[in-house]
Amino acid sequence: MTSSFNRLRPLVKCAKNIRPSILKDSSWGFSSQADNSGPLKSSCPPSFVSSPPILASSRCPPTKPPCPPPAPKCPPTPSCPPPTPPPCPPNPPRCPPPPACPPPCPPPCPPPCPPPCPPPCPPPCPPPKCPPPCPPSNNFQESPRILITGSLGQLGVEFARVLRHKYGRDNVIMSDILKPSREVAESGPYVFADILDFKCLQDAVVTNRIDWLIHFSALLSAIGEQNVPLAVRVNIEGLHNAMELAKQYKLRIMVPSTIGAFGPDSPRDIPTPNFTIQRPRTIYGVSKVHAELLGEYYYHRFGLDFRCVRLPGIISPDPQTGGGTTDYAVAIFHEALAKGHYSCYLRPDTRMPMMYIEDCMRALLGIMEAPNDTLCDVRTYNVAAISFTPEELTEAIKKHVPNLTVDYKPDSRQFIADTWPTILDDSLARKIWGWSHDYDMDKMVEVMVENIKKHFMDK
Ligand code: NAD
Repeated sequence: MTSSFNRLRPLVKCAKNIRPSILKDSSWGFSSQADNSGPLKSSCPPSFVSSPPILASSRCPPTKPPCPPPAPKCPPTPSCPPPTPPPCPPNPPRCPPPPACPPPCPPPCPPPCPPPCPPPCPPPCPPPKCPPPCPPSNNFQESPRILITGSLGQLGVEFARVLRHKYGRDNVIMSDILKPSREVAESGPYVFADILDFKCLQDAVVTNRIDWLIHFSALLSAIGEQNVPLAVRVNIEGLHNAMELAKQYKLRIMVPSTIGAFGPDSPRDIPTPNFTIQRPRTIYGVSKVHAELLGEYYYHRFGLDFRCVRLPGIISPDPQTGGGTTDYAVAIFHEALAKGHYSCYLRPDTRMPMMYIEDCMRALLGIMEAPNDTLCDVRTYNVAAISFTPEELTEAIKKHVPNLTVDYKPDSRQFIADTWPTILDDSLARKIWGWSHDYDMDKMVEVMVENIKKHFMDK
């Protein structure tokens, strides 16, 4: 047994040094798997073969050689790190497929819309309906306080009656330098006031809290020519006082003018216009043109509320006329009714503008009450009613006094009458502040005859 083992020792020793991997290697013609059942094959390695033969024959001993000790376990093969992929060849990176093109751009936006057109303009506004303007310089809007200068004349007495009826007895103060009749004294307030005395007038205005000044004081055409210096003082100096007083106390002032403010150079064959040549030949006419122009100057320069109407000859039942050139048209009624005869100081064909007293009162009231805005810058207005000659008037009176006779003895007043208008164009007054007359020739004659019979024939 021991000899066998010795003989086999090189093999064992060999086997022990053989790695399993080697044992498995078929090129060696050797299997590491112990095969105790079969003979030792001749596939042993040549070194073995060259060893001294164990047996005479080439056959392996029949005894089964002890199994070689199990081959030592190979140490675990260290796990290799995962193979790193080889770096990419330095080929240029392949481009990714081109992305699909986006749809073509929409066309550019149209330019922004222009702003909508403004709506068409509305039709022009109608002229505003202004409320009536405030009455200027009137502290007593319901009832103005009124002072009348020269109030005892032909127009003054009548206008005081009209104003008192409208604004109240005590709101209308009459004034003059004459002693009033009992009737006038009892009819309402009366004060002495000389138009040439500024302090006297000032006192009357302040004491009586005056708002409106009606300036009647004057020397009329015929009487003015008889005393020119007095006419200058009363008509011009007196006017200055009245105007200054109105300016100082902010009074509304009305000064009547006359057809005598026109002259021979004014148009006479046509209705004399409101604005025309004015070159009178009497001191009365000159003073009235002065009054018109000074009043309009104060209006423009100081805002004075100046108003003026150019009156024609005024016909009233009262026989106390002021000494004007048209006085014949009053005197003829009284003479006709009293005596049936009249001696006229004018030629029978002398045509002049005339007006009945009631129309005159409406004209004066109309211009005083006209809203200031209505009058605008026109402060002086012609007002007219009727025009006739002494001959035509005589014929009209004869309807009431059939036996009337008239003779004609023209005097200096004829020269005055010949320079005055025969008829006035008063269309401006009619248009602007609504003036209209009421009395025509026949109506005037009828009422004159009636009133004189009623009020003056007994006295
Ligand atoms: P009128 O002559 O009858 O009255 C004038 C008044 O003035 C008189 O009472 C007189 O006493 C007064 N008077 C005179 N001097 C005075 C003074 N120093 N101070 C104060 N008062 C004085 O005149 P009338 O016919 O009543 O006319 C009034 C106004 O109308 C006048 O300005 C006149 O020019 C004008 N006017 C009259 C007529 C007409 O036909 N009567 C026509 C056109 C214009």
